[in-house]
Amino acid sequence: MRLVFDAEACVGHGRCYALAPELFDADDQGHCVVLVEVVDAAQADRARQAVNNCPEEAIRLDP
Ligand code: SF4
Repeated sequence: MRLVFDAEACVGHGRCYALAPELFDADDQGHCVVLVEVVDAAQADRARQAVNNCPEEAIRLDP
């Protein structure tokens, strides 16, 4: 599965990197930086949790 990030939609709540710091980091303005684009089975639950908690729907998980 692949994490897809929409930089235009991200406003920097920080929920993604708070919930899954192994998958996401923050840039200087607190916006999301995707650390792991291709997510393996062991990382999928955490990736889904981050996706489901992004209020802006700025990240999604593609098959
Ligand atoms: S939770 Fe969503 S809006 Fe907030 S920093 Fe992460 S991707 Fe951006």
